[in-house]
Amino acid sequence: MEVNGQCHCGQISFAAMVDPSRVSICHCSDCQALTGSPFRVTVLTARDNIRLSSAALKMYVKVGDSGGKRRQYFCPECGTPMFTSGDDETSEWGIRWGCIRQRADLKPMRQIWRRSAVSWLGEVDQLPSRATD
Ligand SMILES: [Zn+2]
Ligand SMILES: [Zn+2]
Repeated sequence: MEVNGQCHCGQISFAAMVDPSRVSICHCSDCQALTGSPFRVTVLTARDNIRLSSAALKMYVKVGDSGGKRRQYFCPECGTPMFTSGDDETSEWGIRWGCIRQRADLKPMRQIWRRSAVSWLGEVDQLPSRATD
């Protein structure tokens, strides 16, 4: 499916072709630190399927427990996490779910690093809630 999106401030925008069955959740502690949230949602696609605006992304290289390197791309202005790739930037990329405009149609199909998932993950539904702030 064709999707598009942008960072929070709008400096970086993109369009992409993605397969909705390739949306996943990662509960790893790196994703928790890098997002400030209990887990991160990402959709994988070939680098060639992503068309970026001309503005330059900023990159941070994360070294995982396994020693493997992953590139983390974000907006240099507002810091929105936008993409990830392996050490070779021509490889497959992940698009961070939160900056995709059609994200309501992209439901996670699998999860990884479940061992570091927060224990209260299944309890959120029962918390007192309000429709807005
Ligand atoms: Zn931005
Ligand atoms: Zn992760």
